[in-house]
Amino acid sequence: MLLNLLLPSRCAGCDTRGAPVCSACSRVWGTPTPVSRAPLANLVPAYALARYEGVAKRILITYKERGRRDVAPTLGRALATALSSFAAVPSFAALSSGTPPWCLVPAPSRRTASRTRGGPHVQRLAEVCARRVGAYVAPALTLKGGRDAVGLSRAERARNLEGHLHYTPSGRPPPGTRVVVVDDVITTGATSAACVTTLKNAGIKVTAVVALLATV
Ligand SMILES: [Zn+2]
Repeated sequence: MLLNLLLPSRCAGCDTRGAPVCSACSRVWGTPTPVSRAPLANLVPAYALARYEGVAKRILITYKERGRRDVAPTLGRALATALSSFAAVPSFAALSSGTPPWCLVPAPSRRTASRTRGGPHVQRLAEVCARRVGAYVAPALTLKGGRDAVGLSRAERARNLEGHLHYTPSGRPPPGTRVVVVDDVITTGATSAACVTTLKNAGIKVTAVVALLATV
């Protein structure tokens, strides 16, 4: 609190003083747009709220790489708005009110990356989102070993994930919920597909993948 008084926060998107994300930059998150990627084809529908460029990209990088936890409420709120808007998407009509609650499974962060980023960054967003829409959060996936995926090609990412992504029974989604895998960025789609497949192999049906951003 005292620190906030001494150092007024700057917008993660445009660097103006004031809110962690100013009102103009908060508007970059749109409605969920379908994302098509080869690894996800015939698996589950995937959606993103913005393209991985400009202000949206800067906000995410500031949150993720600079440990700006104060950006989490804005990003979690954007995910919550997206989930709520699924009622209007024809293929998601069944997800509207009156159906089982959602359960968000965060794409796992590597433990080493989590340490430098101040905790599992996607899980924190899922928790903010879940509080707003009354969903569950199930940390059912963990990543052990391998390396950070930044800069890897699709084939390298797939190899990097092999044997490192694990299903964690203690984080199993509650029975009867509709499971959505949440991620920050969809690039090649390999990570999302691996998350969905790992859950599927554990007998858990995934309804969709929702990410904040997708590369162009
Ligand atoms: Zn701004």
